[in-house]
Amino acid sequence: MKINTDLHSHSGHSGGVGQIDIKKYLETLPLKGINVFGTGDCLHPEWNRYLKNSFIINEKTSLLEFNRESQKESETNPSFLLQTEIILTSPLQKTSKGRKGVHTLILFPNFESIEKTTQFLEKKGMKNTIGRPFIKCSSNNEVSDTLNHILDIDDTIEIIPAHVMTPQGVYGSINPINNMKDFYGESSERFSAVETGLSADPEILSLIPELDNMTLISNSDAHSHNLNRVGREFSELEMNSLSYENIINAIRNNNVTLTAEFNPTEGRYFLSGHSDAKSGHSKGEYCIFSPANTPKDHICPICNKKMTIGVLDRAFEIRDAQGGEDRKLGYLTKTRKPYKSLVPLIEIIAASTNTVSISSKKVIDIYNTIILLFGTEINLFTQDKKKVQQILTDNNISQNIINGISEILDNNFSFSPPGFDGTYGKLNLGIKEDFLNINTVKLSDNHTTTTNTLKDFI
Ligand SMILES: [Zn+2]
Ligand SMILES: [Zn+2]
Repeated sequence: MKINTDLHSHSGHSGGVGQIDIKKYLETLPLKGINVFGTGDCLHPEWNRYLKNSFIINEKTSLLEFNRESQKESETNPSFLLQTEIILTSPLQKTSKGRKGVHTLILFPNFESIEKTTQFLEKKGMKNTIGRPFIKCSSNNEVSDTLNHILDIDDTIEIIPAHVMTPQGVYGSINPINNMKDFYGESSERFSAVETGLSADPEILSLIPELDNMTLISNSDAHSHNLNRVGREFSELEMNSLSYENIINAIRNNNVTLTAEFNPTEGRYFLSGHSDAKSGHSKGEYCIFSPANTPKDHICPICNKKMTIGVLDRAFEIRDAQGGEDRKLGYLTKTRKPYKSLVPLIEIIAASTNTVSISSKKVIDIYNTIILLFGTEINLFTQDKKKVQQILTDNNISQNIINGISEILDNNFSFSPPGFDGTYGKLNLGIKEDFLNINTVKLSDNHTTTTNTLKDFI
């Protein structure tokens, strides 16, 4: 059977998130078609207590189910999997460029293993007042020992480097390193998977040789139950029956049948640059560089400070450092699984109807009508385009929306300008822009120079 999983989320205790109510997730997840959802922040004392009180453990699957007496047995009831993200920090011995902090996912089989992990990490001085626990290590060896100790608590605990290419990921641009071992030490040999994150996809990660034998999984990293957040990235896993252990085995054995990805150009850190929110920049004054043009010293030409280095630049740097110079964009390692670039349906409807707010009643009404036709959003996106068009036409969905959905199914869309320096890319339906043709050196809205394309660079 195929199970749609989204195994990275956050509770209201993580920064910048409002109060989160699991009941809201119970409304959203069946619409999206997510079968198993990460609880987020399961080491946080209050959230941990809330999870214990709100869920029952299904003895057959070892997954959590919402403890709602009135809840009917239904195929669409999502299960939850105990999950947290932690931040480990360590000085970097090799490059001695200061401390690096790396976000890392942990999946747990039960509350007992969480308790043991908490006791262990508390002895190490874990700061746990915000959703993501913070663990300060004095060396890479200590990072390695810490993770090895957690993995020894239960052999079904899984550790997965989170959103590996973003600034807070292991390959990220803050105090950059070019090998996982330079941060995680020997413990990285026990990892089976990495999370692609919103700014990278299997194509970009195929540039990195040391990932060749690892599973790539996609998760939403949702900070809210909203329809454009939950399940915006997910992984479809193949297993005989639904259980925690089978999910872990599917990840370890790369039994991934599909990952849904953001188009990387939408991700907030795709290209290098500086947004106009940076000090020293006036409004409308920003710079974006494709790798063919990024200044070698990484200095922003507007404010003369170091700019935020994008995922694509980092991927090429790591490729070269790992001896993968012969790999070009477009190359996919043999171990890579099918993947699709998706845009949340609610955003397609808003863009197709020129509606600014995805929470407007008009947009939500259309969304609900379409979901009734397909059962779930994932069902819509995994069906044949002609069939989708027929069903939408037969049910009087407006042509603009049918066109918008068709463009996504055809992969005929792009984000322009692409995401950079914390800003999401802007959706353009019906316009396909290849990574290889990105050729913008943009210094401000009214000052754009065009030089080398990425094709010239690789
Ligand atoms: Zn994170
Ligand atoms: Zn700047």
